[in-house]
Amino acid sequence: MQERVDKLRGLFPGEGIDSFLVTSPENRFYLTGFTGSSGSVLISEKEIFLVTDFRYAEQAKKQCPHCSIVMARDGIPEALQDLAGKINIRKLGCEGEIITYHQYASLEVKLADCEIKPLYGFMDNLRAVKDPGEIECIARAVDLADRAFSHILPLIKEGVTENYLSLELEFFMRKNGAEGVAFPLIVASGQRSSLPHGTATEKIISHGDLVTMDFGASLAGYNSDMTRTVVVGKADEKQKEIYGIVLEAQLAGIRAVKPGVAASDVDRAARDVIVGYGYGECFGHSTGHGLGLQIHENPRLSAKDNTGLRPGMVVTVEPGIYLPGWGGVRIEDSVLVDSHGARVLSASEKDRLIVCGR
Ligand code: ZN
Ligand code: ZN
Repeated sequence: MQERVDKLRGLFPGEGIDSFLVTSPENRFYLTGFTGSSGSVLISEKEIFLVTDFRYAEQAKKQCPHCSIVMARDGIPEALQDLAGKINIRKLGCEGEIITYHQYASLEVKLADCEIKPLYGFMDNLRAVKDPGEIECIARAVDLADRAFSHILPLIKEGVTENYLSLELEFFMRKNGAEGVAFPLIVASGQRSSLPHGTATEKIISHGDLVTMDFGASLAGYNSDMTRTVVVGKADEKQKEIYGIVLEAQLAGIRAVKPGVAASDVDRAARDVIVGYGYGECFGHSTGHGLGLQIHENPRLSAKDNTGLRPGMVVTVEPGIYLPGWGGVRIEDSVLVDSHGARVLSASEKDRLIVCGR
C-alpha cells in the first residue's frame, strides 16, 4: 500500500499539487485498506490522514496502521479545514470525476487559502495496472463466477424465470464467499436477449430461447465480470451461426491483447470480424473495459481509447450481436495482460453454444 502512495506522490510535481484528497470508496480502499462507508483521505507529501467519524474509530485503527486517523466531530469539511491549517497545504488535488459540486463548493469556503484542483483520470490511470495482490483477488472473483456458471447450467430449463436464475447465481456466489454481486445481474432470454443490459425479469424461459447471463462476484473488494449465452432445448441454425461469429470475434479480440498494443486495436480486432459478416450495426458497444475495484475501469477497449496495454492490466473482452425481435449473443471473459500476451482468467466453456434443459 505504501508503494501505491509513493507512486501517487511521484505524480504531485507534474500536476502542480502538494496534496491530494480522496473521497471515493474504491480509491480510499486502494490507498488505505479502509472499508468503512464514510471517510476522506488526505495525502500530503509526508503523511496519510484518514478523516472519519466515531462509528469507524476502532475499525480505522485496525485497518490503517500506516495512517494518522482524524476523528471528524463536526463534519469532514471542518476536520479538513483544521488539518489544512496545521500541515499548511497550498495546492490540493481532488478527484475531478467523483467530487460533488456541493463538496467542491464547501472545500472552497473551508480551505479559502488553498487552491483546489480537480484532476481527471488521475487515480483511474494509477489503478489501471494491478499489482500481484490485486491480480490474485480478481482471479479469485473470476473463479467464483466460473463456479457459479457450472452451478447454474443444470437449472436452466423451460418454465423457470429469469429472476430465478439471477437469484440462484447470486445465492451461489454469496454462499461461497462473495460480499455481493458485482452489478445488477443480467439474465435476458428469448427476444429480450437483444437487450445488451437486460436485467432479469419475471419472464418465463421457453423452449428454443437464447439466455444471456452477464454476472460477476465482488470478493475482497475486487470484481469479476463474465457473460455466457446458452440456448434452451434445441439450437437452430441461425442461433449457431450468430454464436459462431461472436465467438470468432471474441477470440480475435483476446489474440490482440498484448503489451504495447493500443486498447482501440483490440476493439478493432473483434469488431472487424463482426463487420466482416455484415453485423457491424448490431454491435453497438465497446469490446471491453478494465476491471478491478470497480466494474468499469480504464482502459476502455473502444475506438476512442488509445492507451497502450501494459502487463498487469486486467480487461474484459465481450463482443456481442443484438438483433431486435430475434435475440442476442454475447461472450465475455476477463483477461490479464502479461509480459508475453494475454492470460484468460475465465475458465468457463464457450467453444460451442451450450444447449440446456434437454
Ligand atoms: Zn459483463
Ligand atoms: Zn463487462
